[in-house]
Formats: sequence, C-alpha cells, structure tokens
Amino acid sequence: MKNIKDYTLEELQEELINLGEKKFRAEQIFKWLYVEKVKSFEEMTNLSKELREKLNKEYTICNFNILKKQESKDGTIKYLFDVLDGNAIETVLMKYHYGYSICVSSQIGCKMGCKFCASTGINFVRSLSSGEIVEQILAVEQDQNIRISNVVFMGIGEPLDNYDNVVKAIRIINDQKGLSIGARHISISTSGLVPNIYRLAKENIQCTLSISLHATNNKKRSSMMPVNNAYPIEELIKACKEYIKITNRRISFEYALAKDNNDNKEDAKELVKLLHGMLCHVNLIPINKIENGKFDKSSNENIMKFRDYLNDHGIVATIRRELGSDIDAACRTIKKKELKK
Ligand code: SF4
Repeated sequence: MKNIKDYTLEELQEELINLGEKKFRAEQIFKWLYVEKVKSFEEMTNLSKELREKLNKEYTICNFNILKKQESKDGTIKYLFDVLDGNAIETVLMKYHYGYSICVSSQIGCKMGCKFCASTGINFVRSLSSGEIVEQILAVEQDQNIRISNVVFMGIGEPLDNYDNVVKAIRIINDQKGLSIGARHISISTSGLVPNIYRLAKENIQCTLSISLHATNNKKRSSMMPVNNAYPIEELIKACKEYIKITNRRISFEYALAKDNNDNKEDAKELVKLLHGMLCHVNLIPINKIENGKFDKSSNENIMKFRDYLNDHGIVATIRRELGSDIDAACRTIKKKELKK
C-alpha cells in the first residue's frame, strides 16, 4: 500500500483529484499529518467518513514503532525504529542551546564503505522512502512532545545515493504547510557523489551541503573513503566550487581527525591550499573509535593546533562538540548490529 507521507503537497493534491476529491482536501490532510500529527485517518475529523474510508483503503500512515531508546548523559537520545518491514534504523536527537536537532538516516545500510564509519560492514538493504525519512522527525517529535528546529542527514546511508527521496523529503520537511523547518536549518552530508552535487546545486533548495572530506590528497582519502576512487578530490572540489557559484551558499567541509593519519601540520597546510578562496567552513570532528576501526582519535592538543592553523590562515574552522558518545550516537558511530529485528 502507498504511504501517505511519501507525497509532497502538490503530489497529494494530484492524488486527491484522482480519487475524485477536491484539491483543498490535500492541505487538510497535510495539516493533520504534520501539524496535528495524528496517527490515523479516523482522527482527521474534518474529512467525510467516506473519504476517510477511501484513504484507509488506498494508503497507510507509516507510524514507526520504537524498538529501543537510549539516553546519553548529555541528553542525546538514540532511537531504534522498526520501519515495519523487518528492518530497523537509527535516528538521533540532540539538544543544543538553539533548540533540538535531529540526525536522520536515509538508507538501511550504506554502500560507501568509509573506513572510519560504523555503517561499514553492514550490508546495504534498501533506500528509505521520503515518507520514512519524514517519519523519523514526526516519531521523535511525538515521543518527546517537542518541535525540532534542525535536521541533519548524517545518520545511516549516503543521502545523495538516495537522491530523489531525500530531495522530496526535504521539500516536505521545508513546506510551510508541512513540517515547516527552514531549508537553512537542513543539512545534507555527502561522502562526495559528484554528479549529484551538480544536480543538488540546481534544485533551488537553500539547505546546507556538508562534504565529508577527511583528507587532502587522493592516496590518503581513497584509503579512508573508497568513493574517492570514483570521484577524486580534484573533481569533488570542482563540483563544490560550482555548487557555491550556483547557490551562493557556504559549504561545510567535515574533517575527522585521526591520530597520525591526517592530523599533522602538513595536512593542515594542504587543507589550507585546497580550500583557499572558497566560501566554506571546516568542521573538525574528533574521530570516534569504532569496533574494528583502524583509526584512533587525535589528541585534544593536536585537534586544537589543527584548528588554530586553519583559522590563522584564513579558513574558518571549528571543532564539533561530541554528543552521545556514551551511547554510540556520536557522529558515524551509530551501531548497526541492532538493525535487524
Ligand atoms: S560515513 Fe556516511 S557514506 Fe560513509 S559509510 Fe558511513 S554512512 Fe556511508
């Protein structure tokens, strides 16, 4: 059956017209789903009983079940959701001074095989639909009785490998009649699928693009991220420059510092050279040790020296605050061993 949350407002209007209904019913349904956050068609009381029955026959309202919930000392909450087909995904809620931020998954498993990521070694099962991406936000908001203000696509999966569904989910999340989260508060993190960076540049979505860079030369980057063999650094940086030119948006480069691998002064120098003149920001991530992972975390001293070198040479850099590390919810450490029910 079709998932009613898989539709943008315009698509839902089409669906309603095809059901012989008036277009404005779609807006009413949208409001029930994303403002009132109801879990059944029965609760949509301004729709006729006949329409509610029709909807029940044609669509499901995908409501995830919470399989597990772990809370960190710092208030970060990691959810394991049953996506209703025998699989499970993880979603992480973080609390910042500016509000609540959610890290959503875009796929069940990941094909990219980044060596520092806990998703590596987990077989790719399938991509999530746009409704399943949106449902992660709804389910957490309902569970916590909060409103989420920021969304990051940094959970399991490569968002640009699920391009159409991710872009559609962003349109639903961003729609003022949907979840109404500003595009500038939505961030997509990619390992660097170059063709889809060019596509995204032309979508006219004001979201933030984060690039998982992590190294400044192809040898090192390919050893950390196999995707670099297909799209080497030169091509990636060229695509980023084009993205900035078209969107006039600042790109965020993520750089996970691994001890004795990419955290010395030479690396910092190369990074300055690579990003020179670009409208960008560097987010330094203290790498998280994962089970069987081959990288260790840099010392705090090295991390700070690295940051200072970048800042002193014209590249704005900050160190990401680590949240949820005690529950394996910190960046790229969410565990996959529980992803099968
Ligand atoms: S870092 Fe992202 S793209 Fe790389 S393996 Fe992990 S989930 Fe996939």
